[in-house]
Amino acid sequence: MTGFDFHLQDLNLWDLTVSGYDDELDGDLNLPDGDLVDVESSIQDLTADYAELRRARPTRIRGDHGWREIEWDNGAVHRYEWTPYTMDMRCDECSSPDADLYVVHDELWASSGLDGWVCFRCLEKAIGRRLVPSDFKSLPGNTDVVHHGPELRERLGLS
Ligand SMILES: [Zn+2]
Repeated sequence: MTGFDFHLQDLNLWDLTVSGYDDELDGDLNLPDGDLVDVESSIQDLTADYAELRRARPTRIRGDHGWREIEWDNGAVHRYEWTPYTMDMRCDECSSPDADLYVVHDELWASSGLDGWVCFRCLEKAIGRRLVPSDFKSLPGNTDVVHHGPELRERLGLS
């Protein structure tokens, strides 16, 4: 996941599937953004890469909402399909929609016995104490985010 500037209950993403390639590219590409422009630019990048790598030229491009098929002069047919999906950003433990992103040190996380996407309050409950600034990794997601609620900012030593 990229982009740390969200404070969302649900995150809209596009699931882009590619088939027809002759290498390990076939499969799902998860785009961490709700923007269709990213689907378009991914397809353009992949197509340009393929054209350069295989010295091939597209001979026919067909498409509609949610799919595109590109036929090449070497006989390959690439098919792209994209569908929107939603990532549930609520806390796995308490279902709070207020599950701000944060990253703590691996040892602390391991000692909590928790798994998945858990809000900092549930983490504090699991470890039996309040989080302090030294518990957090030094990452932009922890420090450069203005969307963190006041409680988490306090634990991060930001307020
Ligand atoms: Zn929780």
